[in-house]
Parts: sequence; structure tokens; C-alpha cells
Amino acid sequence: MKTLRECVAERAAQGAAIGHFNFSDSEQLTAIFNAARTLGVPVVAGVSEGERDFIGLAQAVALVRSLREAHDYPIYLNADHTYSLERVKEAIDAGFDAVIFDGAKLPLEENIAIAKQCVEYAKERSASIGTDILVEGELGYIGTSSKLLEGIPEGTAVTREAMTHPDELVRFVKETGVDLVAPSVGNIHGMLKDVPNPHLDIALIQELKRASGVPLVLHGGSGITEDDFTAAIKAGISLIHINTEIRLAYRRGIEASLAQDVDEVAPYRFMSGGLHAVKEAVENRLRLFSGS
Ligand SMILES: [Zn+2]
Repeated sequence: MKTLRECVAERAAQGAAIGHFNFSDSEQLTAIFNAARTLGVPVVAGVSEGERDFIGLAQAVALVRSLREAHDYPIYLNADHTYSLERVKEAIDAGFDAVIFDGAKLPLEENIAIAKQCVEYAKERSASIGTDILVEGELGYIGTSSKLLEGIPEGTAVTREAMTHPDELVRFVKETGVDLVAPSVGNIHGMLKDVPNPHLDIALIQELKRASGVPLVLHGGSGITEDDFTAAIKAGISLIHINTEIRLAYRRGIEASLAQDVDEVAPYRFMSGGLHAVKEAVENRLRLFSGS
């Protein structure tokens, strides 16, 4: 089985990006897996702190690992936005393939200091169990929501000056040793209610990629236009996070199932609408990220 690091490099060489989709139950994970398998592309399933509290840390690991082993398929588990060293360690110990330390809201020095400790811990653990756990760092604040938004969240970088600066990113990567990095390039977490999300700064992505030399991750993928995604991948984005969009698909799919048969009580029937809606949404994104 290829490691996630190898998959990221391989997809980038093909001019494609890997999709990262969040789940908080087995139905969503099944839908993500089925979508990836239909297209034959590697995929990352992620759980935020809230999502992993809901499904269980060990349970998330067991579910993803069982799919990977039973189908010999490149599906990986990421600990999405993790805000403390303790919780990063917890996810690494539980068997996650990758973790994100999110210190984007902290002063730079503090962000660097904690991210560095996360990298050291992941390296030690990887060496002792013979695996390759990746650590992603975050530089530049893009909000924390996975909801439909009325407006751009306060404090989010929307001007070039407020977005991630190439020199700062170089320093961050060099001093922390992170394997992946998520910059602020005009993207926001969450999805604006009635209009597309703001445009990405494609030239900045290019500059950050050239300067940092590590794979770049794009968060807040829900609501970004298809043209922006395609340009961002070409400019150097290797991994793209989608959450809000599939949460919405899940809820609407379940509602449609229930509306169709208001007396249905079998979960595998009334949940199936949600599963199909998520699969379709994930498949659409993965097709786009594959450049087809
Ligand atoms: Zn994110």
C-alpha cells in the first residue's frame, strides 16, 4: 500500500489534487469511500475535533483501516483542525495517517513552536511503528465554520496584505518541518449562503508553492468555483478540503428520503438518501480535482 505522502506526490505529478472529505458517521464514510472507488482515486477522510468526539477516535481509525485493508484501497484518515499538542498526540497514538495542528490564530512564534513539537512527535511515532504520519501546519486565518454563512467571517484574510506572506511561510516550513501546509489565499471556511465564495489568489498560490517547496492544502473548498479549483491545482494545490457542501447534501438527502416515505423507520432505508447524495457530491468534486 502506498503511503499518503507518495499518493500526494503522485497525484500532483499527474496535475491532480487529492480530495479530503469530513465524516462523523459510518454512512458518510461509506459514501466518501464508494465515490473514490468509483473513480479509482486515492482519498482522505477527515474528522474535526467535534466529529471525532462524536464517532470516537478508535472507531474512526478502525472504520477507515478496515476499508483500506478489506479492499486494498488507498483511503487515509486525517485529524482535521486540531488545536492543541495533546489532541494531536492522541490522534497519532490512535493510529491516524495524518494530523493537522491548527495554530493559525496564535502568534507566529507560538504556532511555530507547537507545530514543531507535533512534527517531532509524529516522526518518533512513525519511526517506532514503521509508518509515515504526516503533519500539516496552518498559516493565515480563514475562519472556523463549516456552515452556510450570511457573510465573510470576521478576522478572515480577504486582502492580499492579510493573506499568507511567502517569506513567513518559508520560515514556518523551515522551522517546523511540517509535511504539508495550508495557507490563506482568499479561501474561507464555510460557504456563503447566496453567492459564490470569494475568488482565490492564484498568483499567490503559485508564489507560495515555489517558495515553500512543500505540498499546499486548500481549506474551505465548499463554495469555490470550478474554474478557481482548476487554476488552484495548476498553481500548486495538492489536497483540497470539502466539508460544508457534503454536510448539506447529507441533510437534504435524508430529508428527501423521509419525505418520500414518512412512515419509514428502517435506518438503512431512510439514511440511504443521504448516503447517495454525499456520494454524488464527493464524486463530482473528485472528478474535478482529477482534471476530468
Ligand atoms: Zn479546514
